[in-house]
Amino acid sequence: MTDASRPSDSTDTPEAADSGRAARAERVRFAPSPTGYLHVGGLRTALYNYLIARQSGGAFVLRIEDTDRERFVKGAEDDLVSMLRWAGIGHDEGPDVGGPGGPYRQSERTARYRAAADRLVADGHAYLAFDTREEIEAARASAEATGGAFAYDARTRAAMRNATSLPASEVARLLDAGAEHVVRLRVDPGERIAFVDEIRGEVSFPSGDIDDQVLVKSDGQPTYHLANVVDDHAMGITLVVRGEEWLPSTPKHVLLYRALGYAPPRFAHLPLLLSPKGGKLSKRNADREGIPVSVRDYRAAGFEPEALVNFLALLGWNPGDDREAFTLDELVTAFSLDRVNNTGARFDIDKLRWMNAAAVRALSPEDIADRAREAVSERV
Ligand code: GLU
Repeated sequence: MTDASRPSDSTDTPEAADSGRAARAERVRFAPSPTGYLHVGGLRTALYNYLIARQSGGAFVLRIEDTDRERFVKGAEDDLVSMLRWAGIGHDEGPDVGGPGGPYRQSERTARYRAAADRLVADGHAYLAFDTREEIEAARASAEATGGAFAYDARTRAAMRNATSLPASEVARLLDAGAEHVVRLRVDPGERIAFVDEIRGEVSFPSGDIDDQVLVKSDGQPTYHLANVVDDHAMGITLVVRGEEWLPSTPKHVLLYRALGYAPPRFAHLPLLLSPKGGKLSKRNADREGIPVSVRDYRAAGFEPEALVNFLALLGWNPGDDREAFTLDELVTAFSLDRVNNTGARFDIDKLRWMNAAAVRALSPEDIADRAREAVSERV
């Protein structure tokens, strides 16, 4: 973390400033899409957010990003909530507990996204596009035929069927006729979109490399990008901590914040989890290497939440010394974003097994009896 990105204020104790620990109350969030069981990588993201909220005396928000109805999985939200609870990572606001920023399911917030999209269109930051799937496929095929790649952007916009290329009368006619359309962000080239990542430092992307992202789909549902920005702003999120796979989305979000006139939050992108053999810890890699990916499977395999939490905390973060055993409360004190690595973190299941053995030994006979009873009652 650079000094410039976090000016010290009167609440900064010298100790907090030295260790890079959060010195202001942060509102952070975990924003999973209910597309399957909670993934261990998701649990690590939730954990780091939780630690930041607790350490800074802020709030940890759970928001369910369920706008993609095609990928929606029934029961996934219940799994997310119950696995977070099992791990001891409690949220302060969320669909099950409410809170001042609710509702916390994006499917219940559609009118807000529509209003934001209308405003972006009215201000010229976004436009309606009428291209059919076939027309876009044809444009892609013709770009590829000449060795190029198609992007719907400032270079191709004028050749497509949208409100920037068609006469206003034609746009009105199409709308009257009920023609399907999407809303796209207008991204102009010639600028570097820069932001400070709390883990990586300054990151920037040329705006010419960013496509005219779809913000509202033809079914009227917002895409992730629009809903995420509208909600992070509405929910007063001060720091976005999420996986590295979202880094390429962030310049689009920075443009959206600017276009909507919102002050952006700060950002931190966590290193990818890598499988023991290298490569992303995807379901396919993990299955091949005999590693469970869903938190539920860890629980079923007999891993104790204390061990999994301790293990995940150290997957991408180090305390600055060789200490390895941490309770959740100890992590709240010790954690700092400036000791999160910016390279991928390799998953070492043997280390987790070793931590689990230690966690089981630390349980009292009563704890063991309680947990055994719970496990049995869940199975009947
Ligand atoms: N819904 C996204 C996910 O499934 C959230 C990404 C973010 O935190 O912005 O991970």
